[in-house]
Amino acid sequence: MLLTISTTYRPATDLGYLLHKNPGRFQSFPLPFGRADVFYPVADVDRCTAALLLEIDPVGLVRPKTGAYNSAGWLQQYVNDRPYVASSHLSVAIASVFNSALAGNSRERPELAQQPIPLEAQLPTLPSREGPELIDKLFEPLGYSVEIREHPLDAGFPEWGASPCFGVGLKGVVRLRDLLAHLYVLLPVLDDAKHYWVGDDEVDKLLRFGAGWLSDHPHQALISTRYLKRQRSLVLQALDRLSDDGQVAPDVAAERGQHDEERLETPLRLGEQRMQAVLTALREVGATRVLDLGCGEGNLLRELLKEPAFRAITGVDVSHRALETAHARLRLDNLPAAQRERIALLQGSLTYQDQRLAGFDAAVAMEVIEHIDPDRLEAFESTVFGAAQPGAVVITTPNSEYNCLFENLPPGEFRHRDHRFEWTREQFQDWAQAVADRRAYDVRFHGIGSEHPEYGAPTQMGVFTQ
Ligand code: SAH
Repeated sequence: MLLTISTTYRPATDLGYLLHKNPGRFQSFPLPFGRADVFYPVADVDRCTAALLLEIDPVGLVRPKTGAYNSAGWLQQYVNDRPYVASSHLSVAIASVFNSALAGNSRERPELAQQPIPLEAQLPTLPSREGPELIDKLFEPLGYSVEIREHPLDAGFPEWGASPCFGVGLKGVVRLRDLLAHLYVLLPVLDDAKHYWVGDDEVDKLLRFGAGWLSDHPHQALISTRYLKRQRSLVLQALDRLSDDGQVAPDVAAERGQHDEERLETPLRLGEQRMQAVLTALREVGATRVLDLGCGEGNLLRELLKEPAFRAITGVDVSHRALETAHARLRLDNLPAAQRERIALLQGSLTYQDQRLAGFDAAVAMEVIEHIDPDRLEAFESTVFGAAQPGAVVITTPNSEYNCLFENLPPGEFRHRDHRFEWTREQFQDWAQAVADRRAYDVRFHGIGSEHPEYGAPTQMGVFTQ
């Protein structure tokens, strides 16, 4: 596997100072999975090319450190493409062989290290199973002119078609550190190999090497998703941190709007409007201790945390996974102690009585009741209104009359696969009024989202007070 980096900056041999590798010497570096050699096929004043040749030991890669060869499929592990394609191994080699350059340091040419210069990278075998378009999509927004050469899968058998690996040239006027960081992040994104572990520190790595470019990249969600091996909680964490400046790339919205309901409702910004309506209701009842029942991945919790008036916030959900994601997205592990103490996440079902839910001023069940089987609603009622008995309860649920206005929703279908029912305004109001009467609460109804003269608003909300 070969990577060459060339410059026509004059004197071009300054590339040696930037890479901390003397053009006159051939150097070898041992790596955990093989060996990297650095040499300069060309080193003139007008043009200088550094080559990083990575020799991967495919047997060493899969040889168990101890014990016998007992893993299934070991033959497949021997016969793999790892030695030939540019992948995360090349990223690791870049980071270890060119680490000062990647950090933007150069003892002899510190200013040049911070200066965009004409650079060209050549990668003879860059994998992209989705075809060449993805390579363009990733590198063009970074200002490179991208040249892609297709290879036949096997030159002797043209009928086998094209190889999923491409010869790629990237040309641009960029800082060397940026070129190396782009390659470091994007090589594993293109390779998209599934089988290696990513831990929490991969998010930090992604953001460190993505600093200054990833938050503006139109495909930051795709990049983060594939770099982090599709581990949803890590991806959401990365995307949240990338959008901390308030900007959200178009594909981030798509990534978040994964399920049908969000896709249908996103154009109305309904999620946002719902959250604002709920927050307004909570402020109006003067709540300070708030329960978010069925908190899911923590959308509302995040808004609640922003308002100091909500002194104690507890999210409850039956889904352990959703709570894990909420924990990661809210970065609970990194909150200052005073903030951390304001919030708790509990796993539990709303259809079973739970002592931990007592003693709150207000409880919210935002888009939750429709996930509960109708014959369990009575149990929900006695858990929330009977046992927990918060001062106020805010419930939102879809208004099914509005469904015929969603172009992409076939008649008779629910907005989400997990919905057990969706109610008309009359159905919701009948149920809510009966609950209020039984439990000695008052209830008022509001529409959320733009009101249709006949079908009403897309979401309906009931605010119960004692
Ligand atoms: N309130 C959140 C999530 C709505 S999705 C929001 O508006 O963004 C519905 C959530 O209710 C899911 O997270 C689901 O796990 C949770 N849920 C469904 N049935 C539940 C039950 N019986 N007890 C607790 N949570 C439940």
